[in-house]
Amino acid sequence: MRIKQTQKQELAPLIEIPKPLHQLTDLEIQRKACIGKIMTYTLTSLTNTFVKKGFQWLLPIALSQSTDPLWPDPGASIEKRIEVDIYGKPVRTTASMIIHKLVAASTAYPKLFILSPNIRIEKAERAHTGKHIYEFTQLDFEARDATSKDIFALVEDAISLLVEGLKRDMQDELTMLCRCDSLKIPKAPFKIYDRVELEAKYGSDWEAGIAQDICEPVWVTNIPREFYDFEDFKTGKWDNYDLFLPQFGEVLSGAKREYEYKKILTKIECDQVKKENYALVLNMAKEGKLKPTAGAGIGMERLVGWIAGVKHIAECQPFPRVPGNVNEL
Ligand code: ATP
Ligand code: ASP
Ligand code: MG
Repeated sequence: MRIKQTQKQELAPLIEIPKPLHQLTDLEIQRKACIGKIMTYTLTSLTNTFVKKGFQWLLPIALSQSTDPLWPDPGASIEKRIEVDIYGKPVRTTASMIIHKLVAASTAYPKLFILSPNIRIEKAERAHTGKHIYEFTQLDFEARDATSKDIFALVEDAISLLVEGLKRDMQDELTMLCRCDSLKIPKAPFKIYDRVELEAKYGSDWEAGIAQDICEPVWVTNIPREFYDFEDFKTGKWDNYDLFLPQFGEVLSGAKREYEYKKILTKIECDQVKKENYALVLNMAKEGKLKPTAGAGIGMERLVGWIAGVKHIAECQPFPRVPGNVNEL
């Protein structure tokens, strides 16, 4: 999911790197404040929707023995993985809370969401994609016994309600950001494409191709990736999905999940991912305690970046985290 953006970035003109707060002009501060208000509105609207639909709000964790392997991934762009010892044990900073979600949704929290800070030290060359930052926040959610269709309906509802609310309540901010007219309330249900048909049409750069061609958000399904997404071993089809926004690209990834021990083990071994990092989840699966779930994570800076029409999503961060750029704050 990563390689094409790297290639695209080599050809595209460089996107300006957002400045830290103390270097902004008065006008830039006004713009930053507008984006900040849109972020507050977006967080409020989405969390309200999830709570109203019966999801429990979990607080995030930052350090854990087990985190997302982010592998296999054809264009993996993680420059460094952060691992430290605490109390004599190695822990990693959260890449995503996918493993925690699987365990939580299988036990005490059948429907859950988390505003989860993710650390991914992306390669410095990704500074100018405009879509990558090295610390970001996912609205990460999971539901027991849910299907992909359930997740599509949930997300379509949440995003349509959000844009409807923004257009009603945030007209001044959207006008200042020149998004008052161009931001449209999406029409559900969103179209669904299979990655195979997009590859046939656009080739390997299908992510850029579809993002350019659409006027409404669309789903893309059947994307080979990490072991925790469900794969039908008979057909080779993956029951997973990404949400693509017009002129912007991927804003969400998710899936129906694997929960059967043998399948998870086979995939972990085939991916050459370290088994010992996933011992707990493997044991739960072996004992039949891992339940069928489905879920996804929405990148908050990307979603707000699309709403606000920014060139670089670090504009949505009070303290920009641009790959290769370390500021004092
Ligand atoms: P990409 O292919 O665009 O690099 P990804 O597919 O590797 O992203 P996922 O692992 O699917 O990313 O992460 C889930 C969601 O988190 C993404 O859909 C996106 O919204 C967000 N996200 C992932 N990486 C970043 C990043 N470096 N900066 C900002 N948001 C990100
Ligand atoms: N949040 C994603 C999911 O739910 C995992 C990821 O961050 O890659 O599938
Ligand atoms: Mg993804």
